[in-house]
Amino acid sequence: MPEIVGINSMINYTERLSLLMSDIVERVPTLSFIDMKKVLVFARPGRTVAEGAYATCHCICLPPSEPGYYFWKDRETGQLTRRSEWFVTKSPTVHVGSQPVDYMISFALPRFCDQRLARTRKSVHYEGQPDWVAKLDTIVHELYHIDPERPGIRRMEKADGTYSANCHGDRFFENVVEMVNQYLESKPDPQISSFLAHDFDSLVQRFGGVGGVTFRAFPSYPQRFTEVMPVQPPPPPEADCRVEPLALPRITTAFTDDDMVIRQFFRTTSRKVADASKREPQAA
Ligand SMILES: [Zn+2]
Repeated sequence: MPEIVGINSMINYTERLSLLMSDIVERVPTLSFIDMKKVLVFARPGRTVAEGAYATCHCICLPPSEPGYYFWKDRETGQLTRRSEWFVTKSPTVHVGSQPVDYMISFALPRFCDQRLARTRKSVHYEGQPDWVAKLDTIVHELYHIDPERPGIRRMEKADGTYSANCHGDRFFENVVEMVNQYLESKPDPQISSFLAHDFDSLVQRFGGVGGVTFRAFPSYPQRFTEVMPVQPPPPPEADCRVEPLALPRITTAFTDDDMVIRQFFRTTSRKVADASKREPQAA
């Protein structure tokens, strides 16, 4: 049975990641536009042995979509027989204190803690460097997804000047390697990234436990949602037919510190240990 420890003795992993990211955006010019006050780091479940992402960048500052509706067509005549109410899709709002959050970066625990350079495609870029640089690469990678020009995920330009259909494009990975090396060469305080040198077991040994901020409805987290327009526009000219109400699940669309908790992560499970707003500040 894994040992359960007090909130103030275990490492707050997401807080450490936030502090490290603040240092990175101060030292890497390409990322210097990022305001870490508007970036929330949170934890998601991810087993070390399972397939899946180590981390993900979520944009929650996109404007609402254009109004739309679903429709059903008669197979023979092609005529619209019924349609849904008009709806829009919207980003949820997340506040930390009074500060609105624009982006969230989630880390899969404990999987991320156990990421290693050896035997991955990253190893060719970081020859002779320690294993934990793989984690630094992932952190810079997620920060690089934040678009400097408009709300959203950075679009990568291709050699011909058009935008790549996927958000990684040709140069993304090389650019990340460059930024990782730029950060390391800027001689940062090694204390800030020292926690990356430990894998999950070693963190548990050293700190007694690994904790992280999650949303109360764990493992769910704020995501874009569909909303019926309160004032319905006139019917579209080609769809003057029966209108069906949209059956939407009741979900939370506005989140604050009250919706965040600290969970302690174990190898295959996790448990809530405290409300995030009540946590003691942790010394680095
Ligand atoms: Zn990516």
